[in-house]
Amino acid sequence: QSDSRHDGTVVIGLGRFGGAVAESLSRLGHEVLAIDEDIELVQAWADRLTHVVQADTTNADTLRRLGVAEFPSAVVAIGSDVEASVLTVLALEEIGMRDIWAKATTPKHGRILERTGAHHVVYPEAAMGERVAHLVTGQMIDFIEFHDGFAIAKTNSPREACGKSLGQSLLRSKYGITVVGVKRPRTDFEHATQETVIEPGDLLIVSGPTVNVERFAALA
Ligand code: ADP
Repeated sequence: QSDSRHDGTVVIGLGRFGGAVAESLSRLGHEVLAIDEDIELVQAWADRLTHVVQADTTNADTLRRLGVAEFPSAVVAIGSDVEASVLTVLALEEIGMRDIWAKATTPKHGRILERTGAHHVVYPEAAMGERVAHLVTGQMIDFIEFHDGFAIAKTNSPREACGKSLGQSLLRSKYGITVVGVKRPRTDFEHATQETVIEPGDLLIVSGPTVNVERFAALA
């Protein structure tokens, strides 16, 4: 069982995804133990991360020896080698890792990871593809969707909302969305209130169920 003395994270696999996870965690000031079996990658990362080791992570004893069990969370960022990804999740499960995150490349891969003990499965390629689809249509300038079908988007302001305060335009009852922030050209975002008057050219931060946010963004 892990006795989490750290508040750090083990990142396994230093490919494009794992490398980005490790680098961001480290920039945010979190302790990171990064592991990859590729010695060249380990050397390339050695001066950017505090702890980088070369090891095959499919073996529970190896993980124990590296002190992995003392960390409260681990991210398995092995994508293309499904066998290595699944065996690594199993080994983490075996040493009692309490919070296992794993990257899946396909839904089938994801299902296996969930069955093997991953607590969170992420699909970076699929998630980014969906995001780009929302952005490339030009209706949304930025878009984040949460797991439960709730989204926040940055959109242009639809004509029908302009020249009125948010209280008057009844966007919430009409479209089921909430305008949470407004940005005038050349100013910073401000929190929206009932009194905020939308003007043409304003950018809006809108939240609500994804379908409602999509419908609202299409008006602009
Ligand atoms: P990405 O698509 O994000 O670049 P990859 O699947 O290409 O991800 O990279 C996965 C990384 O995981 C590679 O650097 C590879 O060396 C590493 N890796 C694969 N199998 C193991 C293993 N058994 N133990 C440790 N690291 C591994």
